[in-house]
Amino acid sequence: MAGRNHLFIPGPTNTPHEVLSAMHVPMEDHRSPIFPKLLKPVLEDLKRIFRTETGQAFIFPATGTAGWEVAITNTLNPGDKVLIYRFGQFSHLWMNMAERLGLDVEVHEVEWGKGIPLDDMQARLKEDSKHEIKAILATHNETSTGVTSDIAGVRKAMDASDHPALLFVDGVSSIGSIEFLMDDWGVDAAISGSQKGFMLPAGLAILAFSQKALKLTETATFPRCFLDLKDQMAQNALGYTPYTAATPMIYGLRKSLELLFDEGIENVYARHFRLAEGVRRAIAAWGLKLCAQPGFESDTVSAIVVPEGKDARDVISTAFNRYNISLGAGLTEVMGKVFRIGHIGDMNDVSLLGCIAGVEMAMLDNGFDIVPGSGVAAAIEYYRSTAAE
Ligand SMILES: *Cc1c(COP(=O)(O)O)cnc(C)c1O
Repeated sequence: MAGRNHLFIPGPTNTPHEVLSAMHVPMEDHRSPIFPKLLKPVLEDLKRIFRTETGQAFIFPATGTAGWEVAITNTLNPGDKVLIYRFGQFSHLWMNMAERLGLDVEVHEVEWGKGIPLDDMQARLKEDSKHEIKAILATHNETSTGVTSDIAGVRKAMDASDHPALLFVDGVSSIGSIEFLMDDWGVDAAISGSQKGFMLPAGLAILAFSQKALKLTETATFPRCFLDLKDQMAQNALGYTPYTAATPMIYGLRKSLELLFDEGIENVYARHFRLAEGVRRAIAAWGLKLCAQPGFESDTVSAIVVPEGKDARDVISTAFNRYNISLGAGLTEVMGKVFRIGHIGDMNDVSLLGCIAGVEMAMLDNGFDIVPGSGVAAAIEYYRSTAAE
């Protein structure tokens, strides 16, 4: 089909042409004396995205899933108790990993559409007077339901109950797009990946650890080798990596960081809010609802619930086959019930308006009872009235 395929999935996201160009480099020797000039500043600059001065950033040639495993195996011991709230596919998968690795996983089920229930968490932590819970595994932005949890609130609940547990946060679809404050929130392991807010292909787990977490790498008894942070620390200090570096990805990351810093990280957060809000106005104009309940709406992805009797998969396939746009599917428990619009990464008003128009066409083709142009009109009004001078 002529014209571009536009990705409106919440990862992989669209890669800016500047980043693609930056990655188009001949292979080089990752043991050369100039390699540290690439790696060291990138690791330093990443801290400004995680918003940490005291923590340390790492990159592994892997994906976000490996990031979960790095956090668990480098700081905990088999049989340790961890607390997790399950409210979507990603919190589910993290829980599943924790179980498969042999942790004692305490799972609290939360309705899909909501996030971490802070009062319940605080009560549970208070009750744990022996401090058996060693870590809290918190999914900041649940990409499957478009739900953002309040991590500042999690830290408050931990402090209010004087609980010393580690705080691990999955920020794969939030870091670099919506506010994430590692130091302020007292996050011990922050986990991200290259193909979401960093606007790169999949292939890097991008992580940051607190000094408290890094200290535990000396005593953690989980077997690990490829994912051992101690090897990374030893080599990164010299500007190298323990094994072959994904050099073009690091060149791409350097360019992505430059783009984010040029825009200004606060402006990046504001842009994601504004773009998301236009999409939300469109959804309301269609008379449809988000999967996310009020207060939990994500600024990087919206999961839209289709009316009774409709199958969200039809909207997604019509959108792809007729209009060449890719929408996110409903995963597992919400399969067929929601489709998702990713508004994360390299996006602007007009790209989202194209998406909203394409979604309208696909819904009309599938007999949805919506007024043609209603979503586009609502988004246009919002974007025009909030556009920069
Ligand atoms: C995409 C995503 C992951 C998984 O990342 P992979 O790179 O596919 O391993 C984990 N958590 C969240 C919240 C995600 O959005």
